[in-house]
Amino acid sequence: MAGNTEPLPPRAKLAVTAGKAAAAVSRAAGRGSGSVIGGRVALKLDPDLLAKLAQNLDVVLVSATNGKTTTTRLIAEALRAAGPVVSNALGANMPAGITAALAGSGDARYGVIEVDEKYLAAVARDVTPKAIALLNLSRDQLDRAAETRMLAERWREGLSGSKAVIVANADDPLVVWAASSSPNVVWVAAGQEWKDDAWSCPACGGVMQRPGDDWFCGECGFRRPTPSWALSGDHVLDPHGSAWPIHLQLPGRANKANATTSAAVAAAFGVPPQTALERMYSVTAVAGRYDVVSFQGREIRLLLAKNPAGWLETFSLIDGPPAPVILSVNARGADGTDTSWLWDVDYSRLAGHPICVIGDRKLDLAVRLEVAGVDFQVCENAAEAVRQCPPGRIEAIANYTAFQDLRRIVGN
Ligand SMILES: [Zn+2]
Repeated sequence: MAGNTEPLPPRAKLAVTAGKAAAAVSRAAGRGSGSVIGGRVALKLDPDLLAKLAQNLDVVLVSATNGKTTTTRLIAEALRAAGPVVSNALGANMPAGITAALAGSGDARYGVIEVDEKYLAAVARDVTPKAIALLNLSRDQLDRAAETRMLAERWREGLSGSKAVIVANADDPLVVWAASSSPNVVWVAAGQEWKDDAWSCPACGGVMQRPGDDWFCGECGFRRPTPSWALSGDHVLDPHGSAWPIHLQLPGRANKANATTSAAVAAAFGVPPQTALERMYSVTAVAGRYDVVSFQGREIRLLLAKNPAGWLETFSLIDGPPAPVILSVNARGADGTDTSWLWDVDYSRLAGHPICVIGDRKLDLAVRLEVAGVDFQVCENAAEAVRQCPPGRIEAIANYTAFQDLRRIVGN
């Protein structure tokens, strides 16, 4: 399939041109890169454009609640060992953004595409992927637990009969349930720290048993599949039992899990684990996340936490006390306007750290921290919070729009 540079039909060409023009107008009007608007215009003119743009590419789709942007980057780096790659690196992960990214594919052989969880089935239908990586499913700040279950249902329906190789996390019961409708699954033991969304069986609603790292339903027999790839400490175990060292510049266990899944995907495209893992070392920050910036003479590491599972992962990245921590929470559109999710996060994990609280919803956060019994001070803004922090590298954790605010203020 790849390598045939079949020319785009005239209508698709026109749509791409119109999309690029719309993007240019949007850029000139100062509305960011314009790529999503361009994609939207192009899809209006030719609804089949995404399928046409993908037809000359070997595509892998990446979806999850957490870690999809990073994993997309890791897979893209790994596949560059085999040929040119096009990717929606900036994380515009709905159909318009994906269309815009693929319209600039040039001579790419591989398409590595991050997809919003809600659009996975539709995009998979359009682009006929060779592989789909499914990392985890947990509640989002916008969707409470019941909707997570419905999302798994939609994945399951959308993936049944798919010809793609599904590379799926064997440790997440919802992901397993979604993936097991598909005939061709590669299971990866990538771990799961956040378990609150998987105590009831997705197949029958029974109570899930979780002895050690295993899990199964006592009612219907739905259980953890035997993985062929695994994360083991600082190594990836491949299906032949060989252990390959993970060297990442990105921090934390969650990123080692992302690297493991990425190695399994790369293998499906013929890139050996050693090559794939070596290439992943080059990834430092992903869309500003994990970036260490200098501001007011202090070093600040920027960490994004969009939902309860994300906050839990982020806490595990922070070195023990006394590292100072700034927490920032907003509740604008993309964050969800309801901050009740704060009560799903175990903030007592931050006990002992000097904590400064900022953001639109700093008072909601203050109430939560008070109840968790951790010390903190409320600050007016990032500049004041940085001044209040005792010496040491500052860890700044923020939810979605708060993270963007923070980057604007302290970024370069
Ligand atoms: Zn069951």
